[in-house]
Amino acid sequence: MKLVFATHNPGKLQEVRELLVPDYEVIGLSELGDHEDIEEAALTLEGNAWIKARTVWQKHGLSCFSDDTGLEIEALDGAPGVFSARFAGPDKDPQANMDKVLDELKGQRNRKARFRTAVALVLNGEEFLFEGTVNGEITTVQSGAKGFGYDPIFSPNGYNTTFAEMDATAKNAISHRGLAIKKLVAFLKAH
Ligand code: IMP
Repeated sequence: MKLVFATHNPGKLQEVRELLVPDYEVIGLSELGDHEDIEEAALTLEGNAWIKARTVWQKHGLSCFSDDTGLEIEALDGAPGVFSARFAGPDKDPQANMDKVLDELKGQRNRKARFRTAVALVLNGEEFLFEGTVNGEITTVQSGAKGFGYDPIFSPNGYNTTFAEMDATAKNAISHRGLAIKKLVAFLKAH
């Protein structure tokens, strides 16, 4: 069965293909010839995930899932959250976003943070939601060059390194998106 992953990001597609069950052929939006950007206008991660999955279901009539992730920092009342990509402005510049986080947490002792991913699935018109969370801390300086986004300043609980110092396999085994996708996979296997 064809299952669309509502993303244009080849890295995410690869990550999911490694986990998904053989009965499903996971295809990205670009492979459908759909190059349109779906506007993520909701105020919650779940809301954005639903917008993307429902848009593809309505447009293409294909079962679809989508993900939305945010970094939630306790001392910033959960910011940047759903605005993680655009925290420092519309350019979605990861370096500027990290600089802004480090700046806002200067002198702050509570550095607790978590990454949270919501995955929305529309399977033959029926809707299901999955979530994955990883708790950790925002470091005081950047370290590591792997990964993307906020990885160089996020250290998961129980590790002395940032996500950007871990290989993809080690990160995916404990990451927010990895956990949410594993729940999706377990559900699809049982369905
Ligand atoms: P998206 O929902 O996957 O587009 O993620 C929104 C923003 O969160 C991205 O622009 C990244 O800055 C950040 N982000 C998402 N996943 C990760 C991750 O695994 N590591 C670091 N940053 C992430």
